[in-house]
Amino acid sequence: MRTPIIAGNWKMHNNIEESLKLVRAIKSYDLAKNVEKVVCVPFTDLKSVKEEIKGTDIKLGAQNMHFEESGAYTGEISASMLKEIGVDYVIIGHSERREYFNETDETVNKKIKTAIKHNIKPILCVGETLEQREANEQKKIVKTQIEGALKDIETRDIEEIVVAYEPIWAIGTGKTASSIDAEDMIKFIRETINSLYGSLSQKVRIQYGGSVKPSNIVELMEKEEIDGALVGGASLKAEDFVKLVNF
Ligand code: PGA
Repeated sequence: MRTPIIAGNWKMHNNIEESLKLVRAIKSYDLAKNVEKVVCVPFTDLKSVKEEIKGTDIKLGAQNMHFEESGAYTGEISASMLKEIGVDYVIIGHSERREYFNETDETVNKKIKTAIKHNIKPILCVGETLEQREANEQKKIVKTQIEGALKDIETRDIEEIVVAYEPIWAIGTGKTASSIDAEDMIKFIRETINSLYGSLSQKVRIQYGGSVKPSNIVELMEKEEIDGALVGGASLKAEDFVKLVNF
C-alpha cells in the first residue's frame, strides 16, 4: 500500500563533476519502477543533478534548509531557493545537524512547516544515541522527537512527510539495528503518529537508516512496517545504491 522509498544522503561528498558521474551511472541501470528513489545532494550540486535526472523518475533532495522565507541569515538557503531548482525532498533534522549545528525539535518543526508550505516533502530524521538505548530510553526519546517535529502540522499534510528512524549508533559505524529492533521502533513511531492523526498514520512512510547496504536491505525491507531506507555511505557507489533500489 505504501510505495517504498530509498533515499541516498550524499552528505558533504561529491563536487559537481563527481555528482554527475554518480548520477549518470545510477540512471544507466534498470531501476525498479515501483520504488521511489531520491538523491539528496549537496546544495552546490542540486542544479546540475536536476538537469541530469530530467526525463527519469529519480527525485531530487536537499539535505537541509532554513525555516525563514528570506532575510539576513548569512550562509543559509531558503525553501523557495530549493523549489526554484526543482527540489522534491529535503532532509530535516538529521542527527548530524542536531549534533553539530544545534538543531532542536523546535527548529525541526519550523523547517517542516516551511518545507510543506513550499511543496517540498520533508524527510524527518529521528533516533536515539547509544547511551539512550543502553538506558532503555529510546522510545521516550523518539516519541518526544516525533511529537516536537509534528507540532501543529495539519492533518492534510501528514502524508507528505517521510520519517527516517536512524539510531545514531548505527550511522556510519557499520552497525545496523537488527531488522527486529528497527521494525519494533518503526511500529512504535507509527503508533505515535496514530495517536496524533489516527488512521492516516498508515499512509506515512517510515524509513530505516544507519549502515544500510546491499547485504542487509532485503531483510529490512521484508518487514511490513519498514517502508524504505535513508542511506549514507552505500549511496555513494552507483552499483550499491542500485542494489538497494532494486532490493
Ligand atoms: P550511513 O548513513 O548509511 O552511512 O550509516 C545514514 C545517514 O546518516 O543517513
